[in-house]
Amino acid sequence: MTILPKILYAFRALPIFIPRAYFSSLQGAVNAFLWNYRRPRIKFPVLSRRIEAGGLGVPDFAKYSRAVHVAAMTVCLGYASRPQWAVMEAIALTPHDLRVLLWVPPPYRPRGVFASLFTTTILSLRIWDSMFLRISGTGPLSRAAPLKMFQYILPHFSAQCWVAKGVFNLCQLTDKSGVLEFASVQSKFHLNDSYFLSYCQLRSYLRTQGFTAFYSIHTPALTLIESLGVSQLLPKGLISIGLNAIMTDRELPLWRYHTAWEKDLERSIEPELWAAVFRRDVGVSRNATLLETSRKVLYRWYWTPDKMSKFAPSSSSECWRCGSQTGTYMHIWWQCPLLIPFWNMVVEFATVVVSTPIPMDPGFVLLGLGGPKLTRQQTRMTFHIMSTALLLIAQRWKSDTVPSLGLLKTYMTRDRTYDSMAIEFLSVTPPKQDPWELWDIYLVKQCVQRGESRPNDREEVNVSEVPE
Ligand SMILES: [Zn+2]
Repeated sequence: MTILPKILYAFRALPIFIPRAYFSSLQGAVNAFLWNYRRPRIKFPVLSRRIEAGGLGVPDFAKYSRAVHVAAMTVCLGYASRPQWAVMEAIALTPHDLRVLLWVPPPYRPRGVFASLFTTTILSLRIWDSMFLRISGTGPLSRAAPLKMFQYILPHFSAQCWVAKGVFNLCQLTDKSGVLEFASVQSKFHLNDSYFLSYCQLRSYLRTQGFTAFYSIHTPALTLIESLGVSQLLPKGLISIGLNAIMTDRELPLWRYHTAWEKDLERSIEPELWAAVFRRDVGVSRNATLLETSRKVLYRWYWTPDKMSKFAPSSSSECWRCGSQTGTYMHIWWQCPLLIPFWNMVVEFATVVVSTPIPMDPGFVLLGLGGPKLTRQQTRMTFHIMSTALLLIAQRWKSDTVPSLGLLKTYMTRDRTYDSMAIEFLSVTPPKQDPWELWDIYLVKQCVQRGESRPNDREEVNVSEVPE
């Protein structure tokens, strides 16, 4: 979306708190444009999720605004590559250190210390605090917290003696089973017995905050921002990292389409299986139409005769193809007797192209659920074949015609040509593994079988002659 960078620039430059009403009107205008001023068929919280989390990555401006500020604070966690403004902020805060203060719970921070900061930094800090439970994997006390933080919380706690022994962050005092016993800490960092009092002080505080119990049950890994806080090395794309932190769910939410598919496929689908379906679609094809079609089928965006008849009683609930059975979602996409031969051909064709048996399973064919273990290239090719088949069916909506396998091959050939042209003329960097390798091998095999010298698609229909 080309307007996103422009809006992000305003979010970064304006040192004011933007009210919720502004985001509602901005989002409303963009969403109305996306849906062509009609009623949305898919909920915005679904669409705004990342592709790997089951959405289509439609920008959620309120979340982007918060991500910008979280990114600004993450910049301050870096050591060597901080921008000039962050260095100026660090000097203004001396003897305090923002890399430490960011992890200190707000009530324990020294009062008045932030008065010398830029207004944008104060705003970013406020948003960082409001998002902290998403930034930290262990609640209000993060494992990335530097031990220097406890000087603000525990009276007479000396972090310096720990730092002298190479213990900088809380995560160094934990392992998979929770907070380490003193004997383990002592042998790990070669400490003498004088550290025992300081260790007990720390451990007792962690217990009172519920950190020990929470951590020993959940043992969460460091979140990405936490690991940046520990390493103090800044990668590129901090806004995306901030956005991921804000949008990451502790558990995958269950949407209505999840339960509808479970009912149709007559099986329970674990959240991990859904997560695998969503992950499959990341970077799977440069053809946005294919991803859109596959996601529309997944979201149950299409209105079938059965559904239409419920809010328009005058319309028939019978399938427009066979005219003999109720046009439910599964019937229209899979079970219709006129469609079954097409799906048989497609599955057989996919089996030949990827050289692995593809099951005649609606869960796998329509959604990519489960199925055989495939390589990345095989997954991409299977996605391409199946979503092209779905596109061809969608193009014949409310019609009694069934697409042919020849047409599917023509669409595949067209996409292969477009991809080559994009690499040749648009300076698009080709992926490390050629996604079309299996397709090219299939074409060469076909030529060898026919005794021809080069691929020939004479038998296939010209796509421009086919009515949409
Ligand atoms: Zn039918």
